[in-house]
Amino acid sequence: MKRVRLIIFNAALGPLDYSVPDGMAVEYGSVVAAPLGPRQIVGIVWEEDRLPGDRVAASKLRPLLEIVPIPPVRAELRRLMEWTADYYCAPLASVARMVLSSGGAMRGPSTMTEYRLSGAEPERMTPQRAAAMDALQGEQATIRELAERAGVSDAVLRGLANQGVLEPVEVNIDSPYPRADAGHVTIDLSPEQKSVSHRLVEAVDARKFAPFLLDGVTGSGKTETYFEPIAAALQGDRQVLVLLPEIALTEAFLKRFAQRFGAGPIVWHSSLKSTERRRAWRAIASGEAQVVVGARSALFLPYARLGLIIVDEAHEISFKQDEGVRYNARDVAVMRAQFEKIPIVLASATPALESLQMAESGIYERLELPSRFGGATMPHITALDLTESPPERGRWLAPELVEALRDRLTKNEQSLLFLNRRGYAPLTLCRNCGFRFECPNCTAWLVEHRFSRRLACHHCGHETAPPDSCPECGEPDCLVACGPGVERIADEVAEILPEARIAVATSDTLNTPEKAADFVAQAEAKAIDVIVGTQLVTKGFHFPDLTLVGVVDADLGLEGGDLRAAERTYQQVAQVAGRAGRGSKPGEVLIQTRHREAAVIAALEAGDRDAFYAAETEARRSAGAPPFGRWAAIIISSEDENEAKESARAIGGTQPRLSDVMVLGPAPAPMALLRGRYRYRLLINARRSVQIQDVIRAWLGTLDFPRGVRVSVDIDPYSFV
Ligand code: ADP
Ligand code: ZN
Repeated sequence: MKRVRLIIFNAALGPLDYSVPDGMAVEYGSVVAAPLGPRQIVGIVWEEDRLPGDRVAASKLRPLLEIVPIPPVRAELRRLMEWTADYYCAPLASVARMVLSSGGAMRGPSTMTEYRLSGAEPERMTPQRAAAMDALQGEQATIRELAERAGVSDAVLRGLANQGVLEPVEVNIDSPYPRADAGHVTIDLSPEQKSVSHRLVEAVDARKFAPFLLDGVTGSGKTETYFEPIAAALQGDRQVLVLLPEIALTEAFLKRFAQRFGAGPIVWHSSLKSTERRRAWRAIASGEAQVVVGARSALFLPYARLGLIIVDEAHEISFKQDEGVRYNARDVAVMRAQFEKIPIVLASATPALESLQMAESGIYERLELPSRFGGATMPHITALDLTESPPERGRWLAPELVEALRDRLTKNEQSLLFLNRRGYAPLTLCRNCGFRFECPNCTAWLVEHRFSRRLACHHCGHETAPPDSCPECGEPDCLVACGPGVERIADEVAEILPEARIAVATSDTLNTPEKAADFVAQAEAKAIDVIVGTQLVTKGFHFPDLTLVGVVDADLGLEGGDLRAAERTYQQVAQVAGRAGRGSKPGEVLIQTRHREAAVIAALEAGDRDAFYAAETEARRSAGAPPFGRWAAIIISSEDENEAKESARAIGGTQPRLSDVMVLGPAPAPMALLRGRYRYRLLINARRSVQIQDVIRAWLGTLDFPRGVRVSVDIDPYSFV
């Protein structure tokens, strides 16, 4: 090639053309360095005819500087990137940035310097140094990463390094990973599991696109079953990607994986250290990495020869990214499998309606595991009507639930209380003047966290210490906590059952893999009697002696009028119920509700999943909602309220008049202020046959907005705030 067109990572600039110096062998997908003004940028060589842009005269082209020594981005991944940009109305440059986020750092030496405490004392101990050294016990990372962890500046740590308090360690980035062995331990599958795993192994060996819905009840052994096709891929020297919705789940998975394959998989998530990230990235791109387990960002890595994708807990909404490129990793994963011509397995006990519909229409092949492994029975579910049998004043647990907790404690069995609310109380107000603590940056109340003594916004991270008196009227000792969070429920359990050992399990308490592993070990060793947790504990965990699950407030998810409220409530309760009775003792589930008559509660009580899905399907069909119609949102935001409003109005004023497209809004978003930005929303509902992306592109493409205004498009939105 004499000239090339590059995708660069700056969406504002678009593709750029360069000449190729003599002797430089570029191909499509090559990652190259090029000059831009006085700077140097990195780009990907792309097929020119697939990108817009006028052809610049050859005489005006500047030459490329060099090829970055990493494997070219393969055509399969390039097509996936194009599809993602097109489907989610995002700039290809933004997608490219996700793909090569660590690729830019791929140049350079294969060793890096990390630091750790040497045991030496500084010449002069300051409180800051003492705190930093305290925070860095047992840590090893780059200066920048250590500074972040210790909450001090780089300079403080450089000072410590100069004095020998921190010592350098050379880390070999390219050291190979331990090899997983397909035949390390084999598991005897039940006949049910065997027939599912045979089908999946067959698909792996066929090396063709094949989407599967693995629909198996909680405790049916979905993981054991999909380990077999993973083994088949390993034997065929193909790579495997396992997407999990949450890092907290990864620990349990890693343990099981290592037992089965003799070595752990490669873990990929956003908080990897830069050395780990580079090591993993290189191994993935070279093909050395065998199995990668990760959160949604692992989907866009440059696998050299992918052979299988598993999406576990595929119904989870955390697969949807709600900023930047607003993609749904579950759906993009299916597309990746299609471009790579490989099988993909969506595993869930409570599949999304969209996935079930794909199975019904024969596009996905449905594989079922209808019963629990080893003869364990499904738990018995009962709804507790809080209007009939309310908790005592100032308490949140109904008498029947308290009785059941007490009963488990005497029998030395474990209980789990589920409430999807972190902290102590969602709202703090003044008894005297009615003042409510609100976030200055968001339309949200500040949540009291009593363990860490702070009032915090769960949207932007704003924090303040709880004051002694009301900031509005000045009255002392007048602040009251309203409503429960998990910490408050834990307090209540401690009062009722003083001898119980209680653990609060949320993203606040299990915020590192080590803490998550520790929690699992404690629960398995039965050092915990009652777990009080958020959605973090609803899935993945397997504690055989856990026999009681209490859902503190099943109505919580039903409020707010979200399109998927009923489905989400069903999934959450069914999942958390799935933690009960997984061993030899049967499980019991008590759901606290004020709406015992609601269809979703009735379906849960009756254990009638089909009835629930059938009713929900009809409701969606008649509302023209997905999967029967299309939804999209346009979100307009600015730090300037008026600017946001005017831009929203301009978009509203030019809306397309099409018979099969309905536009609602613009209206202030329910979250009208978020992280200091004022927000307006439009919601678009269209027939399935409409190419909604084309409509939106044509519509927004004609408009110009002030610099401070951000307009983002959310295709198939999950969040309606
Ligand atoms: P699911 O993901 O479907 O909820 P799991 O894969 O967690 O279920 O399996 C539930 C429990 O049963 C786990 O402890 C698992 O190790 C065990 N199990 C499942 N299948 C088998 C099998 N074939 N042999 C031995 N143990 C199994
Ligand atoms: Zn906030």
